[in-house]
This record gives sequence, structure tokens and C-alpha cells, in this order.
Amino acid sequence: FLPHLVASIEEVEETYVMVKPDGVQRGLVGDIISRFEKKGFLLKGLKLFQCPKELAEEHYKELKDKSFYPKLIKYITSGPVVCMAWEGIGVVASARKLIGATNPLQADPGTIRGDLAVQTGRNVVHGSDSPDNGHREIDLWFKQDELCEWVPAQEPWLKE
Ligand code: GDP
Ligand code: MG
Repeated sequence: FLPHLVASIEEVEETYVMVKPDGVQRGLVGDIISRFEKKGFLLKGLKLFQCPKELAEEHYKELKDKSFYPKLIKYITSGPVVCMAWEGIGVVASARKLIGATNPLQADPGTIRGDLAVQTGRNVVHGSDSPDNGHREIDLWFKQDELCEWVPAQEPWLKE
């Protein structure tokens, strides 16, 4: 994790965003990636991936006592997902805002879940809930050589 250029080290974060199997099956991948791209975050990793059960269980281990946990593991492993690592100033909280509330019926219009989903159990996208979990989840879902450190050409037009 090498924060680059203008922003101070404290401000630059990374977060794990994932289009869940329903988002892939419904053809929403391009729309979802586009929202983070247009916002100005930096894409560091991207892949289509069939998640094994063990990885889904590790990713959602904090929820293992919830009644919906078995359904959640089945959902996340039911088809390919699109895994993304995004970097940027305040990207963790900002990505959660772009994604919207966990229950899509309560998510504001303009958010991904608010625009594209109706049920909590089919809420099309995941985003890390803290900078620590951002690191943890990127480490969990990506190998080191699947991540790129790069400076986009638009950088000086995005940050003062
Ligand atoms: P998130 O951070 O907004 O994704 O929400 P949580 O961390 O609380 O839950 C993780 C995921 O579990 C959610 O995105 C949903 O896919 C699923 N989930 C949470 N609560 C429920 C529920 O009450 N029912 C079902 N079926 N799924 C749930
Ligand atoms: Mg969560």
C-alpha cells in the first residue's frame, strides 16, 4: 500500500468493493464500476472470480452467528463476483455512501443500492466498512501481483 503524490498518508485509504453475483447476473458490472471511476478513485485491482465457500466464510466471519448467514454464504458463492480494490482520499466512507444503505429500500436514490436493488439479500454490492477492513479484505481477495500501483493521467486535474 503506497499512497502517492499530493495527499498526505493519513488521508489516502484503500477499500474492497465487490459486485455480488446478482449484480453480475443482472448485467450491472459496468454501471457499478463506472460510478467509482467517475468519482475519481483509483482502480488498483479488478477481477471476475468464483468465490469458494471458505473465502466467503472468512470474509463474512463477523456475521457467522446471524440467522441469515447460511443464506448469505450461498448467495455470495452462487455465481461469479467482480472484485475491486480502490484507492483514494476518504475512499472507505465515500464508497459506502455511493453504495447506500444495506437495505436497498432504505438506500437513497442516486446510490447503487437505491437505484438498482430492492432486497437486503440481493443488494448487488459490497464495500469495506473501515480502513482496517479495507486492508484486510484486499489482502483476502487479491494476491499481491494482482494489484497495480500507478498514476492516472488525470491526477493533476483531480487533486490540487
Ligand atoms: P453491508 O456492510 O451494508 O453490506 O451490511 P452488513 O455488513 O450488515 O451485512 C453484510 C451483508 O449480509 C449485506 O450486504 C447483505 O447481503 C447480507 N445481510 C445483512 N442483513 C441481512 C438480512 O437481514 N437478511 C439477509 N438475507 N441478508 C442480510
Ligand atoms: Mg458490512
